[in-house]
This record gives sequence, structure tokens and C-alpha cells, in this order.
Amino acid sequence: MSAYTDAILDLVIRKNPAEKEFHQAVKEVLDTLGPVLDRRPDYRRYKVLERFVEPERVLMFRVPWIDDRGEVQVNRGFRIEFNSAIGPYKGGLRFHPTVNLGILKFLAFEQILKNSLTTLPMGGGKGGSDFDPKGKSDEEVMRFCQSFMTELARHIGPDTDVPAGDIGVGGREIGYLFGQYKRLRNEFTGVLTGKGLKWGGSLIRPEATGYGTTYFAEEMLKTRGDSLQGKTVAVSGSGNVAQYAVQKITMLGGKVVTLSDSNGTVHDPDGIDPEKLAWVMHLKNVKRGRISEYADQYPRARYEAGARPWQVPCQVAFPCATQNEISAEDAATLVKNGCFVVSEGANMPTEPAGVDLFLEHRILYGPGKAANAGGVATSGLEMSQNSMRLSWSREEVDQKLHGIMIAIHKNAYETSKEYGQPGNYVLGANIAGFVKVADAMLDQGLV
Ligand code: NDP
Repeated sequence: MSAYTDAILDLVIRKNPAEKEFHQAVKEVLDTLGPVLDRRPDYRRYKVLERFVEPERVLMFRVPWIDDRGEVQVNRGFRIEFNSAIGPYKGGLRFHPTVNLGILKFLAFEQILKNSLTTLPMGGGKGGSDFDPKGKSDEEVMRFCQSFMTELARHIGPDTDVPAGDIGVGGREIGYLFGQYKRLRNEFTGVLTGKGLKWGGSLIRPEATGYGTTYFAEEMLKTRGDSLQGKTVAVSGSGNVAQYAVQKITMLGGKVVTLSDSNGTVHDPDGIDPEKLAWVMHLKNVKRGRISEYADQYPRARYEAGARPWQVPCQVAFPCATQNEISAEDAATLVKNGCFVVSEGANMPTEPAGVDLFLEHRILYGPGKAANAGGVATSGLEMSQNSMRLSWSREEVDQKLHGIMIAIHKNAYETSKEYGQPGNYVLGANIAGFVKVADAMLDQGLV
């Protein structure tokens, strides 16, 4: 079967040159689907894989806007509507200068499988822009968001495509995007998730990805009769996912000793307790400052410019910043220092050779598409509340999120056992996510 999947990967590389993150994500999935393709010859007969790696629609557009000095700026906007076999396209928007077509295609591709795992009816999509909100005034961000939405509004809708936040897109950006959509379409609908609580947002949505990743780590630990209690934990990033991962890990008895941003890492051997976390949240979400300032505030902490957290000894690692932030070398350092759990809050944060190393050492390794699915799952819950025109309580949403993370873990774990590699969550998550989408594609004919 590998000659067949190799040929598909070759085709993907030839048709999408220079999209290396997309190639990486497709290869990782194709490498694990062999056993299911052996069992299901109909997938090959109906060219399900060939269709699965080709987005249903790719949108790319100009986003002109005017900065505070009156200068015209031009950015590029994207929306990848990758697969709608099991529901409307669903996936975040990323605003970051590194954004390009290949990165968004990798994210949309991962999103198909992730959304399938959540048990909710959501297809896969992703979008964004190379716009950098860092250092921009609120007015500049608003003007950009309005221009971006002026084009995107033609393509999305509550039953078509429902974007959310991702890197660089938080509550502020979702607010401006929603306002412009409402104005253009003259309708108040659940067309975006991550909305403010007073206008259709769901409680626990901001917390969901970080909390969910932590619940997933707890489930993996349970398979070995262990828990987060008393563990030393390294977290990367200091944005939305990282902040709420730190909060939940601490609630469950873990001690988080690192945070980072794209400039460097802070190491606090005393642990980032709730008071320090509240300070970080204010720094990042209100002052929009840098993590280096943590070491000025808490002198026992050390800041190292240009460093990642993975040199700091820990038992559990939560990469929560961005793709490919754990190299093979970082992975080897983590394993050498006694790390035995890695739960990915970020999407594809571990390079392929690092993943191989984790699997080889039987690390409890939760790949992003399973471990960070709590965010989109809670977006799905936000969509349900919007459709029913009601709001569930904090406890209700958290309980549903927890239940979904337990179910995702069970599904990935049971599938890994069924296919002869118990505890290989990469294989388990890929096969479980894929089969549901592939069967839906077969049911719906050649579309
Ligand atoms: P935020 O923008 O809130 O935070 C991102 C964090 O990662 C910041 O600390 C940022 O630092 C850091 N970062 C971004 N790019 C880089 C880079 N190239 N190198 C090093 N650090 C970087 O985003 P989120 O917390 O929402 O997202 C983090 C990760 O989680 C992403 O991979 C995202 O796709 C994933 N994810 C998010 C979900 C969500 O619900 N928000 C859902 C599922 C996955 P700086 O401030 O310097 O840019």
C-alpha cells in the first residue's frame, strides 16, 4: 500500500510546490493510513484519498487598508474551504506575518481530522492573513478586520463556513470581524465563534483549547495509573492556549515552570502560580507586552532571548505556540531530561523526526489534532447555543468539553489498539478521524 500513498504524496508535492508544511501534514497522515486502506479497498476504488488531499475551494484575496499615518497598506487574505463532508467548513483565522498558502493548507487539512474526532458535525477549513496585529493600534486592527471581512463575507455563513480565532486573532479581532459581517449582510447569526459573551459567545470558549489539552494529558496519564499531580511542566507560548493550559495544569496539581514568545523563554523555578498567571494575562491580553517583562517582575525567574523552553528539565511538555517548535534535537533533550508526556496545544508543533523519537521512546504523545481539539469542539458548542438561541452555564460547557476530550482520547486509544499499535495516538487519531470523513464522502457520491 505504501507505493500507493507514496504516489499520492508525490502528486501533492508536484501540484503544490513550495508548500512544505502542507507536504509535512499530508505525509504524516498518509504514513499512518496503510492498515485502513488494506481493510477498505473501496477507498482506493473511489479515489477517496486523491480527493481528500485536494481542497474543495481555495480563496485568496487582496486586503487594502489605511494605517494611522494615512498610508495605504496591502495584505493578502486567505480562506481554505478544504472538506465539508461532515458539516460546514470550520476552522480559525490566523493573522501573523509568517502566514502563507502552505501553512493555511496544512492547518485546514489537520482541521478536517480534528473536527471529525470531536464527534460534532463540522467540516475542515482555515484562513487568515500575513497581517501582523503586533504593534498596531486598535483602530488599525479594526480597519484591517473590516477590509478583510468585506471580501470574506461573500464566502462564509452559519451553514456554510464558520471561522474562529487562532494566532493573532482573539476577542478583539473577532468583534471587529463580526461587526462588519453583520453590517454587510444585515443579519445577526453565529457566523463566527469566539464571540464576546454579551453577543452570542460561549462561556469556556477562551479556556477551551488550553483546558482540553490538559484534560487530554490527564487521560493519557491515566492509562499508566498516573496524573499531573506534582509534575514539573514546561509550557511554550504565552497566548490564549498557553495561558489556559497553565491555569488548568495548576488546578490539577502540576507546577508550570516556563512560558515563551517568539523572542525568548522565561524559566521560573518557583512555578507560575495563579497570581503570576493573572499578571501574565494582563501583560499579554491588555498591555500587549512581551514575556521578557516577566523576569523584571519576578526576579527569581530567568529570561533567555532566542531560547525555547525545551532545555528546562520537566516531566510533561505542552507546546502551545506554533508549528515545528520542537525540533528532533529538542525532542531528544526532553526525553533525556525525563519528560514522558507531550500534549500538543499548538498545531503540528513537533517536527517529524521528533515525533518518531517520542513514539520510539513510548512517550505519552498526544498529537495536536486530538489533544487541542477542545477549542473547536467548544466552538461547535457555541454554534449549537447560537442555533438554539440559549446559553449554557460555565459548568455545563466545561463538563461537555471534558466529556468530549475523554471521548476523543478513548476513540484514538481504542483505534490504536484495533490497528495493532496500542498507545500510538498519531495512528489512532488519524485513522479514527479519517474513516468518518471518508465514509461520508462515499455516501455523498462524487462531489
Ligand atoms: P496566540 O496568538 O494567542 O498566541 C500565540 C503564542 O505563540 C504567542 O505567545 C506567540 O508569541 C507565540 N508564537 C507565535 N508564532 C510564533 C513563532 N513563529 N515562534 C515562536 N512563538 C510563536 O495564539 P493561540 O494561543 O490561539 O494559538 C497557539 C497555537 O495553538 C497555534 O498553533 C494555534 O494554531 C493552536 N490552536 C489554537 C486554538 C485556539 O482555540 N486558539 C485551537 C487549536 C489550536 P508572539 O507574541 O511573540 O507572537
